[in-house]
Amino acid sequence: MNNKDLQARKSQVIARGQGNVYPVYVEHAKNAEVWDVEGKRYIDFGTGIAVCNTGHSHPKVVAAVKQQVDKFSHTCVMVNPYEVAVTLAEKLTKLAPGDSEKKAIFVSTGAEAVENCVKIARAHTGRRGVIAFNGGFHGRTNLTMALTGKITPYKNLFGPFPSDIFHVPFPNDCHEVSVKASLKALENLFKVDIAPSETAAIIIEPVQGEGGFYQAPKALLVALRKLCDEHGIVLIADEIQTGFGRTGKMFSFEHAGVEADLMTMAKGIAGGFPIAAVVGKGEIMDAPLPGGLGGTYGGSPVACAAALAVLEVIEEDKLIERANILGQLFNERLSALKSQYPTHILDVRNQGAMIAMELVNNGDSEQPNTDLTGAIIAGAAEHGLILLACGFYGNVIRFLPALTMSDEIANEGLDKFSALFKSLITA
Ligand code: PMP
Repeated sequence: MNNKDLQARKSQVIARGQGNVYPVYVEHAKNAEVWDVEGKRYIDFGTGIAVCNTGHSHPKVVAAVKQQVDKFSHTCVMVNPYEVAVTLAEKLTKLAPGDSEKKAIFVSTGAEAVENCVKIARAHTGRRGVIAFNGGFHGRTNLTMALTGKITPYKNLFGPFPSDIFHVPFPNDCHEVSVKASLKALENLFKVDIAPSETAAIIIEPVQGEGGFYQAPKALLVALRKLCDEHGIVLIADEIQTGFGRTGKMFSFEHAGVEADLMTMAKGIAGGFPIAAVVGKGEIMDAPLPGGLGGTYGGSPVACAAALAVLEVIEEDKLIERANILGQLFNERLSALKSQYPTHILDVRNQGAMIAMELVNNGDSEQPNTDLTGAIIAGAAEHGLILLACGFYGNVIRFLPALTMSDEIANEGLDKFSALFKSLITA
């Protein structure tokens, strides 16, 4: 079995829309390393898009899953519930930032969590409008696509979209969008397109994930909180990519000290098992009537057991602290590369272990270097690395190491990255 044959088989039977970054087929993976079907080893800087924060197949997660599967794997939480779901909801409602009493619901994917936030916010407010940000990513279902603030590749060919969704600019130092400009656009939107009294929710990622790892300034989140309080608008934190220790706090909103009304959780929640949640203020969460929320697989007992193990590992292995240490290590090493190549690297930024490098031509923020970004991603596998790109302009390399990655493996991976980068610049 080899990668080439498998890719040929895949192309025959899996539609191109569900593309793959690498024609590299996984045989097994352990903690921060992946081996392909040809026996080649890769250092994983992608963690399956910010999912395996606790590394691949953490022994505690594997043990919890095996134990649960031996008991039962599915009854549907909406038919016969089970203790693991209740325990997980107890823990998540305590972990969610802020002091308000909270409740949770479980679904299977991030997009579903976002959709449910909108349903809950509309049921609670009786209003229609939802405001999101340029460059934001919220999913690939019809409603979440509409919320997503980037056309290619997420939205083109897929309309029509639901109405009553609006976008405003996301503040961005690199591209000269200030918090003031962002808030001004919101004020303008309230005059031009939708009254605040008709707005159900504002949704924001505290660090834009697919959008390029741009951090929402504290001043913006504080201002949004104030605005939402003034007008009875539900503030939704999309923490799907930022959650579970990734940014050096359990959740990124903690950096700003702001409590959202509703928040999404997915990805890092369960080490790769498909579960997502909405957690929010109890009185808002209870707006929909019984049976109005949920689904067949939401809150799978196997995924709940995995999530409980993940929470234990985050605490026992001090992974939140580790996210900050890894973030600093990556930032120092990538910044050293930036000082060597200042005309190619515009910016190196991180919030904990959500680390990014933005590539441009001629040191100019208005000249995104998508060619170099593409060449780095294309060359990564050959250098034994799994790397992902992102960005509104497609010119950001993102680094999402497992929080369980050792300094030794991180440095080895960064050596590989530097060698790859230099080989492409001098080529
Ligand atoms: N919101 C954010 C912030 C995300 O990063 C993602 C996934 N990249 C989603 C929503 C959608 O999650 P899923 O792919 O599980 O539907």
